[in-house]
Amino acid sequence: MTEEFEKTKVLIIGSGPAGYTAAIYTARADLKPLLYQGMQPGGQLTITTDVENFPGYPEGIGGFEMMEDLRKQAERFGADIRWGEITSIDLSERPFKVVADGTKTILADALIIATGASARWLGLETEEKYRGFGVSACATCDGFFYKGKEVAIIGGGDSAAEEATYLAKLCSKVYMIHRRTELRASKAMQNKVFGTPNIERLFGYVPVEITGEKNVEGLIIKNVDTGELLNLAISGLFVAIGHSPNSALFKGQLDMDESGYVITVPGTTQTSVKGVFAAGDVQDKVYRQATTAAGSGCMAAIEAERFLSSQH
Ligand code: NDP
Repeated sequence: MTEEFEKTKVLIIGSGPAGYTAAIYTARADLKPLLYQGMQPGGQLTITTDVENFPGYPEGIGGFEMMEDLRKQAERFGADIRWGEITSIDLSERPFKVVADGTKTILADALIIATGASARWLGLETEEKYRGFGVSACATCDGFFYKGKEVAIIGGGDSAAEEATYLAKLCSKVYMIHRRTELRASKAMQNKVFGTPNIERLFGYVPVEITGEKNVEGLIIKNVDTGELLNLAISGLFVAIGHSPNSALFKGQLDMDESGYVITVPGTTQTSVKGVFAAGDVQDKVYRQATTAAGSGCMAAIEAERFLSSQH
């Protein structure tokens, strides 16, 4: 008996702005794309607050709501969007053999990788212990639990700045801890931080240890110049130190840089394997915006369509 595989012309992995935009375009090109959403349907934007810089929303829009709109738009044109995760993949020959949820095999003539990126952690021994007990990488998801309390946030980029101002609305005090004396965040975000009275800036400090019985009760930080230690009484610790690309699934099969970002031919979404395209944060460590992710999802769809036409 021969095993029955599901076949698709285009498989899209990931459901952020890149994945959904690729789905909209490939669906409109009548390629009947199949999209697997992954463990976080809608991607990173579903755990952010308002998105104010995506073109077309003069008043801004909630990240979750925006991703729902993108999903519905893709479905309107016939994209087959599924909750589930791609668990293994074989790019050695076409059609590409892909396994979903460890059980279902799919053969895809073209593949669009839009798996995005995930939050990075500090690597402190105690960080793991308190994860879910006061340590979080998402202020918008967990900030609510720290209403009226004192918290700390680590990082000096736009995420840390944005989350610090968000937390400052809920919490009595926010310590913003950054390893350098200058923030990496944009000037606009810096101005927001500097203009928020209950954000106390502790720049030039690194976290050393998290303390507490079961839940976080304190954070020890060290001055990078003097070595002076400070003990902060906090109930929550938010880590906002950037992201790593979600590319482990393709390791050894696609060319990647030293950080794991999938390498694409400049000006295109073509990866090192013909018929495999990468869009969004998994291949972009420079711009990392919803708008640029959507743009590259559109590019990947057009390139996949041209690739498939060239095969006939
Ligand atoms: P970034 O990479 O920009 O910033 C990470 C921050 O964490 C840096 O300040 C870095 O310090 C610090 N850091 C990194 N590793 C460690 C560590 N091990 N210990 C302590 N600190 C550490 O990441 P973001 O997530 O902030 O932003 C990513 C991208 O998304 C950026 O392009 C940003 O502009 C964009 N973004 C845009 C937003 C918007 O436009 N509304 C909102 C959020 C993000 P150092 O500076 O010393 O390297």
